[in-house]
Amino acid sequence: MGFIQRMADSAKQLGNRAKDFGGIAGDKARDITKKSSELIELTKMKHELRKMEREMENNLAGIGALYYQQQSGQDSIAEELLRLLEATKELEKEMKELEEQINQMQPEVPICKDCSKGLPPGGKYCSYCGKQVVD
Ligand SMILES: [Zn+2]
Repeated sequence: MGFIQRMADSAKQLGNRAKDFGGIAGDKARDITKKSSELIELTKMKHELRKMEREMENNLAGIGALYYQQQSGQDSIAEELLRLLEATKELEKEMKELEEQINQMQPEVPICKDCSKGLPPGGKYCSYCGKQVVD
């Protein structure tokens, strides 16, 4: 079996798997968000996002292989290509959602109420204007 053929074959399976994966990853992301907004959860979400990015790379490579095969006259795989495209779109959507959740959860830098400069973590006084930090 040639390289292109092998690649296309694995891409077909990717389409099937990716379809489930998108849903699962989304549920997991929502689940993690519900649990807590602690730093460890943020790390988990970032890890999840990295995994989805790798899945996305695989999908894009698979789409390339299937598209190439299709252009080489193998019309029978058009359906597989569409399925993988749909799954990849879904994955992209899930990735955006997760990215937004991560952005919302990033701890914001506390700001001095007086001069609006960023405060060092745990500091009692603003290092710019000397104003006492009130919680
Ligand atoms: Zn200040």
